[in-house]
Amino acid sequence: MKPILFNFTDGELEKFITDMGQPRFRAKQIREWLNRGAPDFSVMKNLPDALRHDLDAVAQTLPVKIVKKLQSSDGETTKFLLELNDCEQIECVLMRTTYGNSVCVSSQAGCAMGCKFCASTLLGLKRDLTVNEIFSQILVAQWELRCGRDAARERPIRANGDANNGDVSHIVVMGTGEPLQNTENVIGFCERANRDMGIGWRRITISTCGIVPGIHELIAWGRPINLAISLHAPTDELRGQIMPINNKYKLAEVLAAADEFTALHNRQLMIEYILLARKNANGDVELFNCTPEYAEKLSELLRGKNCMVNLIPWNAVDERDFASPSGNAVHRFQDILIKNGIHARIRRERGSDIGSACGQLRLGNKKHAE
Ligand code: SAH
Repeated sequence: MKPILFNFTDGELEKFITDMGQPRFRAKQIREWLNRGAPDFSVMKNLPDALRHDLDAVAQTLPVKIVKKLQSSDGETTKFLLELNDCEQIECVLMRTTYGNSVCVSSQAGCAMGCKFCASTLLGLKRDLTVNEIFSQILVAQWELRCGRDAARERPIRANGDANNGDVSHIVVMGTGEPLQNTENVIGFCERANRDMGIGWRRITISTCGIVPGIHELIAWGRPINLAISLHAPTDELRGQIMPINNKYKLAEVLAAADEFTALHNRQLMIEYILLARKNANGDVELFNCTPEYAEKLSELLRGKNCMVNLIPWNAVDERDFASPSGNAVHRFQDILIKNGIHARIRRERGSDIGSACGQLRLGNKKHAE
């Protein structure tokens, strides 16, 4: 395994470079490139050719290597398949939106949560990611925004036709993994993104399937980030069928912890709710968690809370036995919530053509491995 220069302290980097017979100032130049997210040494234009070549033979820049980059057909979403130094693979997604550039990062390789509708958990948990491994995902996206090229069009990719792509402005910890099973590193990552990249607390969102002690850790941490709860069902009975974590932490407990968090920071709680349907024996599609009755139950559960419900029509995962509800069913569900005074919007799907929509991120990236 080659040493990863990004993980070195300044002192270690200087020693490494001077041991190669190079002057000390080269270490500083290299550090600047690393902090900008340089994917390899060939881009380090102010280093002599020979040094770049030598470095390439003995070292690696970041703790993640880009294995594959997929561009959605509308050019707004880029998915990166990244390899860690123990050959585990993770994914991260850059979304260019009208409000800024948002990056969805993974917090673990794989996931142990076992949710019945999700691709990320199919192969179980491999391991937690380190702070540097999570942070590097942002650097990869930042590099893409500043220096990326659309190979097909051979010109820099522009966000929404702007002359400048800008920088990463928003972070969502919603990639593979359960962030609150790796809370210490996720917190370390957020601190780093805030300190080193100036990303405001209110532009960072952590999404959890409802690990109550983890939410308490976020409360103790005290930063006013956004909290999102993957709810997906309004009763313990139904939730338990699709999310094994509900057997450990019941809905009332999860929502009480979330309320405590949002009250502390006066933030709006984000609720994620996938809309699931299923094929019955006759091959007809039946609604699973998004019938009008469940819309009423969800309204009761959330009444009086300062929250926004993000409705996510299920994105296809081959191995999973669900279907997406019709557009009509989706709108009817939303209408009932709104009629009951609950803020609800339908999440715009990004990048489903490249398998990067919610719940489609997976280990090994089977779909695109060809
Ligand atoms: N483990 C965390 C972070 C993952 S976030 C969590 O559960 O919140 C990814 C979001 O996408 C979650 O809300 C998850 O429940 C949702 N999701 C998973 N599979 C999906 C699918 N096939 N279609 C749409 N959303 C999905």
